[in-house]
Amino acid sequence: MKAHDGMYIDGAWRPAAGRDVIEVVNPADERVIGTVPAGTAEDVDAAVRAARAALPGWSATPPAERAARLAALRDALAAREEEIAETVTAELGSPLAFSRTVHAGMPIAVAGFYAGLAATYVFEEKVGNSTVYHEPVGVVGAITPWNYPLHQIVAKTAPALAAGCTVVLKPAEDTPLTARLFAGAVDEAGLPAGVFNLVTGVGPVAGQALAEHPDVDLVSFTGSTAVGRRIGAIAGAAVKKVALELGGKSANVILPGADLARAVNVGVANVMSNSGQTCSAWTRMLVHRDQYDEAVALAATAAAKYGERIGPVVNAKQRARVRDYIEKGVAEGARLVAGGPGSPRERGYFVSPTVLADVTPEMTVAQEEIFGPVLSILRYDDEEDALRIANGTVYGLAGAVWAGDEAEAVAFARRLDTGQVDINGGRFNPLAPFGGYKQSGVGRELGTHGLTEYLQTKSLQF
Ligand code: NAP
Ligand code: MG
Repeated sequence: MKAHDGMYIDGAWRPAAGRDVIEVVNPADERVIGTVPAGTAEDVDAAVRAARAALPGWSATPPAERAARLAALRDALAAREEEIAETVTAELGSPLAFSRTVHAGMPIAVAGFYAGLAATYVFEEKVGNSTVYHEPVGVVGAITPWNYPLHQIVAKTAPALAAGCTVVLKPAEDTPLTARLFAGAVDEAGLPAGVFNLVTGVGPVAGQALAEHPDVDLVSFTGSTAVGRRIGAIAGAAVKKVALELGGKSANVILPGADLARAVNVGVANVMSNSGQTCSAWTRMLVHRDQYDEAVALAATAAAKYGERIGPVVNAKQRARVRDYIEKGVAEGARLVAGGPGSPRERGYFVSPTVLADVTPEMTVAQEEIFGPVLSILRYDDEEDALRIANGTVYGLAGAVWAGDEAEAVAFARRLDTGQVDINGGRFNPLAPFGGYKQSGVGRELGTHGLTEYLQTKSLQF
């Protein structure tokens, strides 16, 4: 158990204004592994002031120099790669191998990408008799969730810094230790004081103070739809820019010509990964009625293999939430074919990999984001039926289509109301724009699109 002091504000670790702390718990064994300060509105204000003061200097820094600082940040993260992986495993509970490749490896690569983009992006262009400048939006308030602790931080911070913005980060209360490692890397990379600031704290106090702060120009939030809606309302009232990455209930559509076993196995793996705590997870599997029983049997067998392999969910509240959903699914008529609501282990917030069959589109487990290792399998009659079901939720974040030939899968994917679709098992691409249609969000992260979120244009006419 370690008491971590201070918050990273204006280029130094400074004591918090108040004395409250947040206990960080290892979800695999329920032990308290450390504490961090619980920031207040006072801390947020100090951080926003520092970010505001640093803005003129950083926004005027030549892009090549910003790129050099970001490259140094990438290197500082890479030097901490193993510590990052171990920290994510300790506070989120994910298996160490997954923490290494995904939780540590991916954001390091994304930071490197933005270092490169800062050096090459064209921040100025000619349009007729105008010169258009792409200028930084200003001070960014970033509020991140715990499911991919470092990825969510880097996906906001790296493009914001590349654009010339300054940042105040409020990370999730469940995973603040990874955020502290990130701040340490920023410090080592030699970014000027105030360009990046970290305030640990709880959402309704520090998060809300950040979203409401009049000197924040853009709020970038990732998390639940309920909180996202509130943040959108706060930003709207203040005519402040806002980016929202919210939930999903993505469909994995298996068309009759597909390789069924592969589509089902990859689909189950996709849902169980990170214990189901992925906003883009394909939590609804759609199978033609003629192949339905075979798909259910394949999925049940596949899910059983994940029993010993997946980590716990993040905390007791999340475990209770996931179990409630499984019980609700059964109560509404779904058939449990793997897992269930019971405790697979004595200690830790574990949930058994669960598969629900005979799920119909109006059921709660077919409509709401569960955020746990739970797959719902639905039956469709024909392609139009599959499309209606796939598009029949308030969400539209991701999805998958499997078909006998690629053109058929692409044609179907083009009719899906969703921001991303993986075709016949296409891999996640951290350079492709990521974000939602419908209530899955506003705006895009990652790649070049992720940078333009943090820019605004000014046109000069000659
Ligand atoms: P959440 O409350 O929306 O948390 C996301 C972030 O917002 C955290 O940093 C949180 O702080 C902060 N926050 C909470 N209330 C706030 C407020 N009133 N004003 C400003 N910031 C606030 O999500 P959660 O409770 O951790 O998870 C609940 C559900 O959200 C999950 O079951 C899942 O369905 C969904 N979720 C989605 C994503 C995604 O990537 N789309 C990620 C995580 C969760 P605290 O950490 O202190 O709460
Ligand atoms: Mg919360």
